[in-house]
Amino acid sequence: MRPILASISHAALRNNLAVVRQYAPNSKVMAVVKANGYGHGLLNVAQGLGDADGFAVLNISEAIDLREAGYEQTILLLEGVFSEAELAIAASFSIDIVVHATPQIDMLDSVQLAKPLNVHLKMNTGMNRLGFVPEEYLTAYNRLQACGNVANIILMTHFATADEDIGIAKALALFETTTASLGNAKSLANSATILRHPEAHADWVRPGIMLYGASPVTGTPAAQFGLQPVMSLTSKIISVQTLQAGESVGYGHRFTANKTTRIGVVACGYADGYPRHAGQYGVGDDRSGTPIAVNGKLTQTIGRVSMDMLFADLTNIPEANIGAPVELWGNLVPVDSVAEASGTVGYELLCAVAPRVPFNIIQAEST
Ligand SMILES: *Cc1c(COP(=O)(O)O)cnc(C)c1O
Repeated sequence: MRPILASISHAALRNNLAVVRQYAPNSKVMAVVKANGYGHGLLNVAQGLGDADGFAVLNISEAIDLREAGYEQTILLLEGVFSEAELAIAASFSIDIVVHATPQIDMLDSVQLAKPLNVHLKMNTGMNRLGFVPEEYLTAYNRLQACGNVANIILMTHFATADEDIGIAKALALFETTTASLGNAKSLANSATILRHPEAHADWVRPGIMLYGASPVTGTPAAQFGLQPVMSLTSKIISVQTLQAGESVGYGHRFTANKTTRIGVVACGYADGYPRHAGQYGVGDDRSGTPIAVNGKLTQTIGRVSMDMLFADLTNIPEANIGAPVELWGNLVPVDSVAEASGTVGYELLCAVAPRVPFNIIQAEST
C-alpha cells in the first residue's frame, strides 16, 4: 500500500477542546466541524469532541449524519436552510438553524413544522457576508418572535478582524447596542476571538481551527496557545537520488545542485493535497524550501511538487534511505509553517487533504 497516511489524534482533539474551555470557562462550546471536520473526517472529529455542547456544520446531510451517529447535543446549520423541505427535515432531527436573510424568515412563515426550531439570528457587523444589518435586525427578530415555528432565538454575529491588530471593538459595540433591549443568549466568537477577545466570549463560542491544533492568528504558533496538532500527514521515502553539481531535479528543473546533493523522493504530491505552490529552491537561488521532517529530523523540500511525489533534501540526513518515515505536517512540522511557505493558511491545507489519502484514527485514552 502506498505509504501516505493522515493520522488523527483524539487525545489532541480533547486537549484542544480543554484549551477552549480554559479560555472561555463560562461559555458553551459549539465545535465547528464543517468542511468534513476541516478535512479530518466529520465523524472522526465528532468522536474526539464528544464532550462539546454542540456541533456546527453547513449541509443538512452532515447534521443528519451526526444525529444518526447518536450525537444528541445542539447541531447548527451555519448558513441555515436552502428550502422549505430542509426546514421540515431540520425540525424532525431537532437541528438549529442560522437565519441570515429575509427569504429564510418567509420560509419559516409559510410552513407548518412538526416542532418549532431554535434560530440563531445573524447580524452583519461589518464582515458584509451574511446577516441582517443592525437597522434591520430588530424587525427580523420581531418577525421570528411572532412565528409559531420558532422556539428560542440566539443572537449571533461573526467578526471579520478578530485576528487583526484592529480587533473587534467597533463590531462588538454595534452588536451590543443593537441587542441592548434583548435578553437572549448570544454567540459571537470564532477561534481568534476566543484566544484574543475575552470580552466577546458570551454564552456560546464557536471554535473551528483551534480545535484542530492550528493557529487562527498568523505569526503566532498554535503551540503558544497550548494547542496540539490533530492531524499528522506522513509518508515515506520511496527513492533516493544523488545529484552531482550542475544536475537538476523534477519538472522544470527548478532546483540545480551546486554541490553533491542527496535527494529523497516522498510519496506525497499535490493530488494528495500538498500545496504545489509550496516554497521551493529555485535555480541558483538560496530561498529556503518548505519544512519537512525525515527520520524525525527537520529538512526542506526542493524542486517542484509533482502530482504524486515531492523531493526532500537528505544531504544532512545520510542515514535516511528508501523506507525512511516522512512527516509532511504534524508534531515536528506545524501545518502553519507549511502554509506560510505556501502563501496560505493552515485552514486551507487541512481542508484540502484529498480523498485518496487514507485515515488512521488514534483513540488513545485521555491523559
Ligand atoms: C467557520 C466558522 C467558525 C469557526 O471559525 P474558526 O476561525 O475556524 O474558529 C465560526 N463561526 C462561523 C459562522 C463560521 O463560519
